[in-house]
Amino acid sequence: MARKIGSRYTAHQILGRGSAGTVWLGEGPDGPVAIKLLREDLASDQELVGRFVQERTALLGLEHPNVVSVRDLVVDGNDLALVMDLVRGTDLRTRLERERRLAPEAAVAIAADVADGLAAAHAAGVVHRDVKPENVLLDMQGPLGPGGAHPALLTDFGVAKLIDSPKRTRATKIIGTPDYLAPEIVEGLPPRAAVDIYALATVLYELLAGFTPFGGGHPGAVLRRHVTETVVPLPGIPDELWQLIVQCLAKAPASRLRASELAARLRELLPMLVGMPPLDVDEPDTDPVEEPPAETAAEAQAPGGERARRRGAVPLVPGARPDSNRDTHTSMRVPAPDELAGGALGTARAPRASGAPRPGSARHRAAARRRRVTLGIAGAVLVAALGAGAWWATSEGDHSPPPADSHSTSP
Ligand code: ADP
Repeated sequence: MARKIGSRYTAHQILGRGSAGTVWLGEGPDGPVAIKLLREDLASDQELVGRFVQERTALLGLEHPNVVSVRDLVVDGNDLALVMDLVRGTDLRTRLERERRLAPEAAVAIAADVADGLAAAHAAGVVHRDVKPENVLLDMQGPLGPGGAHPALLTDFGVAKLIDSPKRTRATKIIGTPDYLAPEIVEGLPPRAAVDIYALATVLYELLAGFTPFGGGHPGAVLRRHVTETVVPLPGIPDELWQLIVQCLAKAPASRLRASELAARLRELLPMLVGMPPLDVDEPDTDPVEEPPAETAAEAQAPGGERARRRGAVPLVPGARPDSNRDTHTSMRVPAPDELAGGALGTARAPRASGAPRPGSARHRAAARRRRVTLGIAGAVLVAALGAGAWWATSEGDHSPPPADSHSTSP
């Protein structure tokens, strides 16, 4: 079903659907293109259309091998569309869902590509603000790079800025996933280039681990972790790579590397990662015993329902039911003091070496039960010993000394 977009473009078939609209495979005067047709409610917002036109130069000016270039902006009747380079391939989220986690060499090669794209954007004064696997496209027709990785291109430049105004965020709740949000954004500071570095380090961690460092549970809990929690090391990760990730996940934006430096440092690590298999890390939400209660059929069928369940439905408090509504904090259980104290139980997504029982899992609970029984017995022995001591202290003189003492006093 072909559809005219403005006077120069025709949309032929849907390539994918995103939060802001639908992406079509289309045709323009210079050949095939990808056309992102923004959702109707966005396209009918006059303020947004105005900003679109204002940002035109910045959006159209970005040209880099690791950036999906925007070729044209179309404002036509009810249609608001971005015409982009067509990337023949898949997005990084799809690859991650297929493979769960990537070998470090491929993960680092992809992150280095994205860092190169970001460096070009930042040099042009553009902050992406929405770096996440969905916005990284893998060009399957491009040459194979380190670790067999196809070239990675960052897409959706400037779109977050265009569609994200306080009014709109309140009205339509377009806040995206909180997993990649830098702490300074959570605290209300203006997003500068360093927010992209934080998000990219989160993506790299996710490519290696299979889950994000601070994700899982209620969005409010995720936001809190960005501000207050430190990232837990991944078992088996080379130290140099870990140090880079930690530096780019620094709470203070100024402590993070710049994009060009990050790209260079990542590429330096590539030779030592050759042939290294994916890290052996258990995902926090893979234990079937801890599967959250089944969602309603409607929820499971909803677009992204399956994805949302697999990626984000880890209860903050082990054993608690994830908040299916996600718009409210009222259904959150108040954590117990030992959970608030941190440690394995307080951090929902602390990575564990493969084979270690997951906090809250049946194995973990059985181990805890065993510990409780042992402690119980030890406690009973202690109480009995104290009781005997107390009895001895209070009854001194009323009773004959124990036989051992009588032996020692006898000649
Ligand atoms: P999101 O809003 O989740 O970031 P998008 O709306 O940008 O997603 O894209 C939705 C899907 O459309 C992507 O996952 C990808 O498969 C496809 N897509 C987006 N841009 C392009 C492009 N330039 N070339 C080819 N496919 C694309």
